[in-house]
Amino acid sequence: KQNPEGDAHFLEDESTKIFARKVADHYSARTNQTLEEREASPIIHLKKLNNWIKSVLIQLHARRGDAALDLACGKGGDLIKWDKAKIGYYVGVDIAEGSIEDCRTRYNGDADHHQRRKKFTFPARLLCGDCYETRLDKVLAADAPFDICSCQFALHYSWSTEARARRALANISALLRPGGTLIGTMPDANVIIKKLRNAEGLAFGNSVYWIRFDEEFSEKKFKSSSPFGIKYKFHLEDAVDCPEWIVPFHVFKSLAEEYDLELVFAKNSHEFVHDYLKKPEYIDLMRRLGALGDGNQDQSTLSEDEWEVAHLYLAFVLRKRGQPDRT
Ligand code: SAM
Repeated sequence: KQNPEGDAHFLEDESTKIFARKVADHYSARTNQTLEEREASPIIHLKKLNNWIKSVLIQLHARRGDAALDLACGKGGDLIKWDKAKIGYYVGVDIAEGSIEDCRTRYNGDADHHQRRKKFTFPARLLCGDCYETRLDKVLAADAPFDICSCQFALHYSWSTEARARRALANISALLRPGGTLIGTMPDANVIIKKLRNAEGLAFGNSVYWIRFDEEFSEKKFKSSSPFGIKYKFHLEDAVDCPEWIVPFHVFKSLAEEYDLELVFAKNSHEFVHDYLKKPEYIDLMRRLGALGDGNQDQSTLSEDEWEVAHLYLAFVLRKRGQPDRT
């Protein structure tokens, strides 16, 4: 069924909205940590590793003067990474009001206890909104097109329904210029499902995380029914405690193609570390971020349990079809 705007029309039940609210409230309630609190976190090295992965993605794909769209930007933890890439313009959108407020504070350079620094060199627009429901192409019509879009540790929140997954991809595709790049990180469904198969019941984890699938989950149903709305509860110490959804990667890849977004690469975080930690500039970056010991380059400071959490994620790069206009 088509609505007047020519989009496929899906019925969203009330529970979808409730879950989106749950996710938003969870992130909104997370307060900024002091530097001391952050350093004392049981997953501090995992946080540093994830920052390194995002930094590498940004350094590899953002170019000087780029217009960058950060979907689900959170508290603006990546602002400094974009600044280092010397982008020309930044738009950040997140559903959590509290996070957007923190992001604004950080952008304005006030009370930034993590990095006392001068203001950012690029102009920015920060908005609170649901990236997987709102027609961002309309809201951001005056800001588009973007050269690069980033969606870090967040695209899986769109996978609660087909409508939301499609809205996410339609927004990204409409806002990117031809030849523009989408970079991101999200849970690696293959790793999670493999762990579930080896688990005794519907839950597994270690000292820093646990994942629990809903009672109604069954492998048979998983294989035969819709690839959307496969929900589990994710708990990561000092970071996450909310519902998330499995994103079967082959479905993500083919759905993205429908929106002219072609896969360039996808790598599990373990493989990503293995591949990029060979390059001197990225070893150096890892050391500066504090995610690597002072010794040789194999000496990661991550605990075994943190390293297992890293394995739950993958990094991806997609490119919007078409060639950029020559100027
Ligand atoms: N991208 C940031 C980063 O890497 O630091 C934040 C990652 S945090 C794990 C996930 C973020 O996704 C949260 O800030 C949350 O509010 C946001 N989010 C979840 N669902 C969203 C939605 N429907 N629209 C916009 N943001 C959403």
